[in-house]
Amino acid sequence: MVSPTQHPPSGIKVIIVGAGFGGITAAIECHNKGHDVLLLEAFPELKILGDVISLGPNAGRIIERWGGGSVARELHPITHNNKELVMHRFDGPVVTRTPVTGLVFGSPAFNGHRGELHRCFFAFAQQQGIKIRLGARVVEYFEDADKAGVVLENGERLEADVVVGADGVKSQARALVLGYDDKPRSSGYAIWRTWFTTEELAKDPLTKFFSEGDTHNGWIGPDVHFLAATLKNGRDVSWVCTHTDEKDIEESYSFPGKIEDVLKVVGDWDPVVVKLVKMTPEENMVDWKLVYRDPLPTWISKGARICILGDAAHPFLPTSIQGASQAMEDGVVLACTLFCAGKSRVPLGVRAYERIRYERCRRAQLMGETVRDKWHKADFDNLMSSEDNMRAMDLPHPPWLFWHDAEKHALDVFPQVAKDIEAGKFGTEDIGLQTGVLRRDENGTVVVGNRDFEQPTGEELVQGLVKEQLTAEL
Ligand SMILES: Cc1cc2nc3c(=O)[nH]c(=O)nc-3n(C[C@H](O)[C@H](O)[C@H](O)COP(=O)(O)OP(=O)(O)OC[C@H]3O[C@@H](n4cnc5c(N)ncnc54)[C@H](O)[C@@H]3O)c2cc1C
Repeated sequence: MVSPTQHPPSGIKVIIVGAGFGGITAAIECHNKGHDVLLLEAFPELKILGDVISLGPNAGRIIERWGGGSVARELHPITHNNKELVMHRFDGPVVTRTPVTGLVFGSPAFNGHRGELHRCFFAFAQQQGIKIRLGARVVEYFEDADKAGVVLENGERLEADVVVGADGVKSQARALVLGYDDKPRSSGYAIWRTWFTTEELAKDPLTKFFSEGDTHNGWIGPDVHFLAATLKNGRDVSWVCTHTDEKDIEESYSFPGKIEDVLKVVGDWDPVVVKLVKMTPEENMVDWKLVYRDPLPTWISKGARICILGDAAHPFLPTSIQGASQAMEDGVVLACTLFCAGKSRVPLGVRAYERIRYERCRRAQLMGETVRDKWHKADFDNLMSSEDNMRAMDLPHPPWLFWHDAEKHALDVFPQVAKDIEAGKFGTEDIGLQTGVLRRDENGTVVVGNRDFEQPTGEELVQGLVKEQLTAEL
């Protein structure tokens, strides 16, 4: 369990590149485990950026341990405190009501403004005395048998025992470390998203209820879904609308959003949705293109002194509602595996991190696709015809995802994982399949193998084996 007090120094020096949710969590957890941390962030100053973001109960468990609960207490008033997610058919009728996870899974979820949550994380890292350098853009990574390091834009060279690329979806670390030029593909979808105060909504009888407390409503229609949440006791509102978009773009990207474009898609939906869209300040809207990336064959460098985590390793679709939570779990696990391995076995710690995390992340990623598809491809004509059809639209809350205690799990499985890695075993069955273990045999069948093979593409991994196994359990 996370130590309420600081562990003694481990002697392990860690450089973390990127102060997003993944990087900051890795920094806080590594610091707690006694590692000597330097956090580098390209942004020259902290800004309140983004709109709504979700941290599931599996992430809430991590946050609750920080500062004896002080960070969680700070987040409660600025995050979502509602009782249920009410899903509607696009034209209004209620399809299903899903109770929110809350303490059902032993820890709270924290859904709120990305910038506000991030500010709390950042402030806590600073209070811990973690060394943070803003305006420090990394342009190069290197490693040898004994150390790893980075070069900053200004030419400065920094060394450590391990370097962590937590530099987000447009990660440079991914290409520089893995030599893997994985081009993003259009997912075929984009999201309009926004955040504003409910003052004007309170004046209209149709939208007044948004301002009267925390609410969470969703509307599903053919290949579109729309989610609206109010927070801070109804003071702020955020909505997101996922819709098809075939624009060919190079990377996940955010453009200004236009109300008229949204109305072309939902203009004949439930009048509540139409009114909400029309009352949105256009300057607060973004059009966020969703790109897809194949699963990477590995998240670690050849010498296992550099690794990637968070979006750099595994970007998520928003319908998984797990991108930030999985990035946070990565940071927790890496801190633990380095702690267990010790300074003399840093590469073992890095390898164990990947082995423990890879399959779980993949599983969570796939959930995003499953949820989007079930909402978008529902049989809308017959949706209301049976209780089963309606309940099928519930947002899933799988216990394997939300009950998970990343720290306890990592500490529990480390001895076996380390033994298997040292013995050259390709995987550790108890924690699922691991990276780089699938290949095609001479008949074209995807089979379990070792690393000395031509890596199947991500699509093959998904189509060939992993998807069938994993979606069956969702
Ligand atoms: C500005 C911003 C706004 C966002 N808004 C939302 C939102 O509203 N809703 C939502 O669901 N998700 C949002 N996201 C994405 C979300 O935060 C991530 O999907 C998730 O939290 C995983 O976080 P991460 O730490 O892996 O990556 P990120 O949160 O993307 O963090 C990566 C960090 O690395 C830094 N970085 C990148 N390259 C370098 C470099 N070469 N050297 C040093 N530092 C570098 C970036 O500046 C960034 O701070 C946003 C991300 C960013 C960066």
